Amino acid sequence: MEKAELRRAGGVDYALTRKRVKNLNLRLAPDGSVRVSAPRGVSAAAVDAFVAAHAGWVQKALARHKAAEAARAALAPPEKDQCLALFKEVSDGVYPRFEKVLGGQKPVIKVRDMRTRWGSCHPARRQITLAARLALQPPEAIEYVVVHEYCHFVHPDHQAGFWALVASILPDYKARRALLRSPR
Ligand SMILES: [Zn+2]
Repeated sequence: MEKAELRRAGGVDYALTRKRVKNLNLRLAPDGSVRVSAPRGVSAAAVDAFVAAHAGWVQKALARHKAAEAARAALAPPEKDQCLALFKEVSDGVYPRFEKVLGGQKPVIKVRDMRTRWGSCHPARRQITLAARLALQPPEAIEYVVVHEYCHFVHPDHQAGFWALVASILPDYKARRALLRSPR
């Protein structure tokens, strides 16, 4: 691979590489940098002129690239410590109902990158694990998942007694559960 030369023309910073190509080739790399490959016979000034002439195209491509990155960032869950702070807040609201069951000790809340489930409960460890992506769900749905996992401290299964307990805390739990967008 030949080393790229960093240049600037028409307000565009670009990396110029000399290649055995017939024509000048301008493209936006996946990292958002502008790359130009040029035949060896074409002068740097001619390449600058070419890039300057395409500055409008580059600006539009860069704007599209930034918008796509922003959209991806919006879909990504917040940092783990931010998720944890949010989940602990919800958990603290639920905890008083389970204080006796838990012997007066708050459960340990953990955050993981789970793809197939929103949460899990480990009663023996007094631990609830929640998916980082749960932080992106509506608050009512987050509360439902936290209550659901707390109820496993009483009923490890999903039998009638379990759901009766969930319903006694969140009578509208079915509507809340329906708000959860299915994990991908
Ligand atoms: Zn469950």
